[in-house]
Amino acid sequence: MHVDVLIIGGGVIGCAIARQLTRYRLRVALLEREVEVGFGASKANSGIIHGGHHTAADTLKGRLEWAGNQLWDALCAELGFGFKRTGELTVALSPEEAPTLEQLLRNGEAKGIAGLEIWDRERTLATEPNLTPNVVAALYAPATGVVNPYEACFGLAESAVRNSLHLMTGSPVVGLAALEDGWLVRTPDSEITTRFVINAAGLYADRVADLAGVRTFSIHPRKGEEYLLDKRLRGLVQRVIFPCPTPVSKGILVIPTFDGTIMVGPTAHSTEDRADRTTTAAGGDEVFAAVQQLAPGISARDCIAEFAGLRAVADGGDFVIGPTAKRGFINVAGIQSPGLTAAPAIAVMVTEILHDEGLPLILKDDFAPTLPKPVHFASLSTAAQIALAAKERRYSRLVCRCETVTEGEVVDAIARGARTLDGVKFRTRAGMGRCQGGFCTARCMEVLARELSIPFTAVTKHGGASWIVRERNEELP
Ligand SMILES: Cc1cc2nc3c(=O)[nH]c(=O)nc-3n(C[C@H](O)[C@H](O)[C@H](O)COP(=O)(O)OP(=O)(O)OC[C@H]3O[C@@H](n4cnc5c(N)ncnc54)[C@H](O)[C@@H]3O)c2cc1C
Repeated sequence: MHVDVLIIGGGVIGCAIARQLTRYRLRVALLEREVEVGFGASKANSGIIHGGHHTAADTLKGRLEWAGNQLWDALCAELGFGFKRTGELTVALSPEEAPTLEQLLRNGEAKGIAGLEIWDRERTLATEPNLTPNVVAALYAPATGVVNPYEACFGLAESAVRNSLHLMTGSPVVGLAALEDGWLVRTPDSEITTRFVINAAGLYADRVADLAGVRTFSIHPRKGEEYLLDKRLRGLVQRVIFPCPTPVSKGILVIPTFDGTIMVGPTAHSTEDRADRTTTAAGGDEVFAAVQQLAPGISARDCIAEFAGLRAVADGGDFVIGPTAKRGFINVAGIQSPGLTAAPAIAVMVTEILHDEGLPLILKDDFAPTLPKPVHFASLSTAAQIALAAKERRYSRLVCRCETVTEGEVVDAIARGARTLDGVKFRTRAGMGRCQGGFCTARCMEVLARELSIPFTAVTKHGGASWIVRERNEELP
């Protein structure tokens, strides 16, 4: 196969770039190591579209954060993922912290961010009554939002595929060789030639750069643990709540997710292990101790699920985006937070770089920006639910009781790319509720096995060896 641009890595960055490039008359391929897109950091983050004022204006990530923030409304209107602008409060809990709010305000205003306001204690508590009475003041930022990051990633990939992206999942790049006018890219089962390579391999971007012989940076993983709370706490806060930031992190936050549950986290600890997605007792203690300072009504006993993600921090801490010493190889690396926020702006920037490097960009006449809206049974009126269930029997069979997800929605998710239990879960919410899959796991597995024509024992949680059940081994005692 020969393409014009080959993207390595199907996280939100690779998928956003792919979708942006499919607007043009180009042959574009994306190679993703995992069985589905979005299974790296892009699924395991805080889901915040940051307001732009937390990062310095003289960094690349500082510029792309605010530029990206402003592109999310249009993206959401086209692709239909969960996104809303909740606004944010960064709270000072002592008079000593108050100057930090002023500093963040000046930082935001220098970038032209409108609507930032410092609120006094009374206004803060009148607006968010469940915050600690110890609050001294807060910085209000209206442009901050929350997004379902996995839905955004799936939507970007699906839209790109509908616009002729050649998506190859389960395809780790294992070799790269420079050609006279392009690159030969190897996976264990294929070879592709391309004029341009985009390295969007997240935590492994330094290793991919090594394969190409253009490594100029290292990735230092920084783990973040997150804790999801029971729906009992829905509405505890309306806005994303930040403490005053520290030098390494924006701090541990209280996040009202798009779906209504409250999430708390993340921690920020460096690790050598690029595969360590464990949560820890110490991490949980750190998170709950921190958020109880902000909102004392939160208790660790409300936790229904926990996960960890790894930020891909490059030397120096900034994003590493641009051409390299070898023609046609472009890095999009070190995309730590606020990489999700910046993703749409990064996609525009990379397209401009490709153009500057000599790739002709001719817009397609038939680019289809929108996706068909999936059925979300739980949010239909009772009358609409009854009508749909009567018309199509699959919508009359409930798969997930906690989140009211029907078999029809699971079948639809599989048709749109889900190959695993996590793929179904993150597209439909089956398994995300209070019982965390206790009821629906076997049902989802049955539907996956039937629709993908694979044995029940071949269904995995997220690909590889993450099987749920095994064949009975008669030889075992
Ligand atoms: C705990 C945490 C909280 C965060 N919160 C926020 C937030 O609230 N807001 C925000 O803006 N940002 C946040 N971020 C940052 C954000 O999640 C990342 O910036 C973003 O997801 C990076 O996307 P990516 O595509 O670069 O990486 P990834 O999603 O990791 O994608 C890289 C992909 O490359 C693939 N890959 C690797 N090697 C190869 C290979 N050899 N061949 C093929 N494929 C390969 C991987 O499998 C992976 O799918 C957070 C991050 C973490 C960890």
